[in-house]
Amino acid sequence: MSYVASGQRDWIRMLYGDETFLEMLETFGKLVEQRVLPAEKKTEDQRSRNPLGNFKSLLEEEGKFDRETFERTYARVREEEKIPAEVYARIVESGLTGMSFSEELGGLGIPFPIFTAFLEILGKASPSIGVRFAISNTVAEGLRFNLGAGDLSAYGENVLRRLVSGEKLAAFCLTEASASGSNIMREMTTRAEPSSNGASYRITGNKMWITNAETADVYAVFARTSPDPSSGISLFLVERETPGFGVGQIFEKRSVENSSFGELVFKDAVVPSECLVGKLGRGAQYGVRMLNSGRITIAALAVGLAQRALDEYMEVVVEGKKTAGKHLVEYDRTKARIAEMSMEVHAARDMTFHAAWLKTRFDADPDNPDLLRDYVIASNSAKLKASLVAQKASDHLVKVWGASAVVKENSSMKHYLDSWLYYFGEAVPEVLENTVAHMETKKYQARKGL
Ligand SMILES: Cc1cc2nc3c(=O)[nH]c(=O)nc-3n(C[C@H](O)[C@H](O)[C@H](O)COP(=O)(O)OP(=O)(O)OC[C@H]3O[C@@H](n4cnc5c(N)ncnc54)[C@H](O)[C@@H]3O)c2cc1C
Repeated sequence: MSYVASGQRDWIRMLYGDETFLEMLETFGKLVEQRVLPAEKKTEDQRSRNPLGNFKSLLEEEGKFDRETFERTYARVREEEKIPAEVYARIVESGLTGMSFSEELGGLGIPFPIFTAFLEILGKASPSIGVRFAISNTVAEGLRFNLGAGDLSAYGENVLRRLVSGEKLAAFCLTEASASGSNIMREMTTRAEPSSNGASYRITGNKMWITNAETADVYAVFARTSPDPSSGISLFLVERETPGFGVGQIFEKRSVENSSFGELVFKDAVVPSECLVGKLGRGAQYGVRMLNSGRITIAALAVGLAQRALDEYMEVVVEGKKTAGKHLVEYDRTKARIAEMSMEVHAARDMTFHAAWLKTRFDADPDNPDLLRDYVIASNSAKLKASLVAQKASDHLVKVWGASAVVKENSSMKHYLDSWLYYFGEAVPEVLENTVAHMETKKYQARKGL
């Protein structure tokens, strides 16, 4: 069985005409099947059992019922439910973290579209692991751009190298509890104040809904450095051990359950000025740039989920359910649904590859405004399309299962819930639509000389 979808195969051949990438993808697919899928399944099985029952028996084993024992036992139950660290480690060893970075930075120098193909395979098996890597990659991509522009500190470059090697994991910290995530650049309250001699910054505030909150080593934190609406935000790198910085609440969630998700608290966290990324007051632009790239990785993961939903749908209608003595695939309404899903998954994948390819062109020519507009349109549209297709495909899967879909062991509802990460994460559809419309308007104005 091949792990590479036919649409991926065609794009890779068309863009690079090289079988090596396809062979690498096949090998990675096997790794994902052997390590990631069973780990994800095991945690799912554990979660579908009664966790309180497990908790109770562990407590009885301890024989004590004081607060400390209670907390330690609860932590053990939660830890046992997670995907084991060695599964992550094996993916890091495969080179995924450094795949799309140059060999000079310690990466594999593989083109970004091929990296998205790897993410699609990972997204098909485990959105939790996929998003963990995708977010860290988004931060590293941002730092790489600053390095290219010549405004990254030696410390920032060191962080970048450690992210590329997989030695460190990053979190992208933009959203806050007190503001709508969609309007965060205008409403941000986390602030960073320089010390009188300019040697450090003091960060105060909080960040919410942060992926990798508990697992990251380094946090890319957006903070207000002036009230100026256009140049008031800056970007900082904050190490986990920084005094005054702490992980707040960690939330159990119904979507991508195995990726850590929570709150970060900054109470006068002091970071040296070398932790400032690039130029002071340019954080909003850096954030948007990171999101333009990050949205392609989210799109790739969403395509993986959509493909999986379609595969499972086919299993149900071709081999599974029968009604009036016939498999569902024999009914015209089912055929129309299959055609719709197939077409939509292909469209989402093609848009994702196209956006990834445009990103590589933009990276090579970042001052070209025409290219920038096309790239932004492609990346935002790909995330919009792929997230909606993943949701629709998993919704169809839930429906075709009928009542069985609500049983915990049935994976269709998990896919549907997972699809919400792609819907909300890195911008809701309305924001993506606004961005696409804004860029199309700019294109029109440029064409007309307006
Ligand atoms: C699983 C998960 C992981 C996440 N990880 C991270 C992370 O690592 N780092 C991080 O910084 N953030 C993260 N987020 C937060 C994410 O970026 C925000 O959820 C997203 O930006 C939307 O913000 P919000 O949730 O506050 O929703 P809101 O912005 O409040 O939007 C809610 C709804 O309001 C409506 N709406 C919003 N804007 C408009 C508009 N302009 N026009 C019309 N209607 C509109 C839409 O119906 C929208 O669905 C994560 C979220 C999730 C669910």
